[in-house]
Amino acid sequence: MQEKGLLIVLSGPSGVGKGTVRKQIFSQPDTSFEYSISMTTRLPRDGEVHGVDYFFSKREEFEELIKQEKLLEYAEFVGNYYGTPVDYVRETLDKGRDVFLEIEVQGARQVREKFPDGLFIFLMPPSLTELKNRITTRGTETEDVIKNRLTAAKEEIEMMNLYDYVVENDQVELASERIKSIVVAEHCRRERVEPRYKKMLEVE
Ligand code: 5GP
Repeated sequence: MQEKGLLIVLSGPSGVGKGTVRKQIFSQPDTSFEYSISMTTRLPRDGEVHGVDYFFSKREEFEELIKQEKLLEYAEFVGNYYGTPVDYVRETLDKGRDVFLEIEVQGARQVREKFPDGLFIFLMPPSLTELKNRITTRGTETEDVIKNRLTAAKEEIEMMNLYDYVVENDQVELASERIKSIVVAEHCRRERVEPRYKKMLEVE
């Protein structure tokens, strides 16, 4: 039987740089995991492409998917829905490929319930001042949205205890390398590899 892939969840507060770190990870040729493209009801930002950055959808369409249980998790974040299409995740894991989710913390908590043995990584800002700078300098959000995001971020940091690892995003390249190293280590974890080697002993 095909061994299942690992479900890797990268989460952390709004503005910490999850998207940037994820793009850095996937820009490298040696990255071997598959990115699960999320669905959202927010409008595309400049340069964002449907089917690459997100599947952009209408609220009614999104709510229909919720009803049909087609989302592994979803959350409403600053007025928009975000969610992970479940079929892609299950099919890819079944093929033995690792799947990488980059999602906010409410969603990560739902995934933890459904996939308790997933790998949960919390991306941490070096400081709150730094986080505020990052949200502000992105320049695409209104004052109100920035304020909401900062308040949400403080609550989100308190949810760190649900995670297996915490990675500081002091430099994007370093954070990306740390995450990749964690995945390599996780694949060697005794609980994960033991069944494979037990089987080997049975055969020989
Ligand atoms: P943004 O609007 O800046 O692209 O994303 C806002 C937040 O939604 C970010 O924290 C991002 O990680 C999160 N997000 C993106 N996709 C998903 C998803 O599928 N599910 C959940 N729960 N959050 C998501």
